[in-house]
Amino acid sequence: MNILIFGPPGSGKSTHSRRITELYGMTYVSSGDMIREEISRGSELGREMGHYLATGELIPDVVVNSLVISRLRRDRGNFILDGYPRTAEQVLALENYLYDHGITLNVVMEILISKEESVRRISGRRICPKCGEVYHTKYRPPRVSGKCDVCGVALVQRSDDRSNVVEKRYDLYIRNMEPIIKFYKKQGIYVRIDGQGGIHEVWERIRPLLDYIHSQEVTR
Ligand SMILES: [Zn+2]
Repeated sequence: MNILIFGPPGSGKSTHSRRITELYGMTYVSSGDMIREEISRGSELGREMGHYLATGELIPDVVVNSLVISRLRRDRGNFILDGYPRTAEQVLALENYLYDHGITLNVVMEILISKEESVRRISGRRICPKCGEVYHTKYRPPRVSGKCDVCGVALVQRSDDRSNVVEKRYDLYIRNMEPIIKFYKKQGIYVRIDGQGGIHEVWERIRPLLDYIHSQEVTR
C-alpha cells in the first residue's frame, strides 16, 4: 500500500501514521521529521534548510523534492508519506517518481478538524525545556500544574503553538492544500476522515478503510 496523509495542525496525523506503519508494516516518511533531522545533523543541505527556516522563508521545492524523493527511492513503495506534497511543484515531482517506478497511490487521506479544535489541541500544549516531555493543559496535564513530572522545571509554550499563530497555520494549510486536494479528488483516491473526537474514535474510522484497501492489494 502507498498512502499520502494530510491534516491541519493538531489533526493527529502523525499518531495515526505511526499506528498504520506498525499494523501494516509500512515505511513512515515524514517530510517535517526529515527536515528536522537533516538540520540537526548539520549537513550542507541541513544548514541550507535551517537558513530558510530561520529567516522565515519557505524551503524551495527543489530542495524538499530531492530530500523526499531520494528517501522514497530507497524503499521502492509501501510507504505512508506525511506532509508532502504541499505545492504543485511537489505534486509534479512525486507524480514523475511514481510513474517512472510503476508505483500507484492507493489513497490520499486527509484527517480534518475544525479551526477551533486545532487551536484547542495545539494551544494547550506545554513542553518541558529540559527533557522535552510534552503535556497538554486539558488532555495530559502534569501532576503539579505548570511543572514537569520528570524534572520539576517550569513548562513552556512553543511560540509556534500560541493560539493566534495556530490560527494562521490552520488558514495557511487550508489555502495551500485546496488545489492539491482537488487534484487527488479528480484521480478518485481522496478520502476525508473526520478527525474530531478521541484518538481511538478517529482510528476506528481509518482502520476499516485501510483493511479494505489492504485486502484488495493482497489478492491483486
Ligand atoms: Zn522535564
